[in-house]
Amino acid sequence: MALSGIQIFKMTPKKNCKECGSPTCMAFSMKVAQGAVDISACPYMSEEALASLSAATAPPMKTIKVGTGEGEYTLGGETVLYRHEKTFVSKTRYAVALCSCMDDAEIDAKIAAIPVVDYERISERMQVEMVYVNYDAASGADKYVDLVKKAAATGKTLVLGCDDVEVAKAALAECKDGKPVLNGANASNYEAMSAVAKEAGVVLGVSGADLNELYDTVAALEKLDNKDLVLDVTGASIKEAFANAVQVRRAALKDEDRTFGYPSIVNTVKLAKGDKYMQEALSSVFTLKYGSIIVMEELGYAEALPLFGLRQNVFTDPQKPMKVEPGIYPLNGADENSICLTTVDFALTYFIVSGELERSGVPINMLISDAGGLSVLTAWAAGKLSSASVAKFITENVEDKIKSRKLIIPGKVAVLKGDIESKLPDWEVIVAPNEAVQLVKFLKDMQEN
Ligand code: SF4
Repeated sequence: MALSGIQIFKMTPKKNCKECGSPTCMAFSMKVAQGAVDISACPYMSEEALASLSAATAPPMKTIKVGTGEGEYTLGGETVLYRHEKTFVSKTRYAVALCSCMDDAEIDAKIAAIPVVDYERISERMQVEMVYVNYDAASGADKYVDLVKKAAATGKTLVLGCDDVEVAKAALAECKDGKPVLNGANASNYEAMSAVAKEAGVVLGVSGADLNELYDTVAALEKLDNKDLVLDVTGASIKEAFANAVQVRRAALKDEDRTFGYPSIVNTVKLAKGDKYMQEALSSVFTLKYGSIIVMEELGYAEALPLFGLRQNVFTDPQKPMKVEPGIYPLNGADENSICLTTVDFALTYFIVSGELERSGVPINMLISDAGGLSVLTAWAAGKLSSASVAKFITENVEDKIKSRKLIIPGKVAVLKGDIESKLPDWEVIVAPNEAVQLVKFLKDMQEN
């Protein structure tokens, strides 16, 4: 049962010392109740209060870590059903499926395709993050273990889809250091699978014939003191999988039933039965509702671009504007002698403007200053884009790196030209057209003259 701010306040030291970052203990308690800060931010909380509050204020869904190094991912820890309530915190991760039922040529082609998708969007690297390695009993244990070795060599975090205890043990011997998920526990093998997962120190995936069986198996695993779990909610049909995903999340978050308070796996390969368009559609659906790991047949650019774009929108805090990092972005092979163009750090502005600049083919240094993630006119109206902010950014971050002294400013803030020139007397300030789409012709004309 979640605690109210008043209940939490009763256990605080009531010193009002501000060390937690809140002006009073009451303000701190309210934030803890909302889940905005952790109780441990107060250094004066007694051990006893800390212990009881930590349990009572922990997120209703457990946070689980899988993988290592760059491939370490946090799953779960969600606190709301709808993003507009607060924010979703742990991004959906996408896994490409391999199976020991595939022949060598197919396996090699799929492994070769994994690193193809790799790009950056709004300061976030987009790539295939996981590989799901499915065990086909008819192909034998040796082939599966060899496949796991090959998959581990990709450096991606693995999910082993294997419900045979001995085969799982052999496969984990090849990859346990990479902290994979062992997705193999069910009602008939959970005790042995739990022991294998615990011995290897990996997270255990649990499935059930239906939600009741899944619930009972998770409860039994918890009795064995295994709470490093993910729930495989893939049902026999699309309808069942969707209902499972939603009911598990609702039970954990609304009914506060912590037996279902774990991240989830959805295997679209089983649901779409070879229809790759359906798989893409299902991956989108389960990104929204509520897959922590989504398994797909393939993830090329055609699948990745819309899917990663959707994920980035869903897992963005709606209360924070989407921003790109301030800095110098050289485009089209620009160097220190290339002309500069400045605009704001609002992600949409960055992508529209940088796209047009790239289309022009003209070498240019795009200068992004901190404008609070607002668009050009909004930032100007809010005082976050001004002659002073542009001059300060250029003096502190640009002049020692760029020799060119030509600066293009957004057409919508042409009014700043005179002021910027007076603050940066060495610079020639040029006003761009009002619309980004006009930049290509504008730059080409400039280059010719
Ligand atoms: Fe109160 Fe602790 Fe915050 Fe100090 S640090 S104001 S004692 S909650």
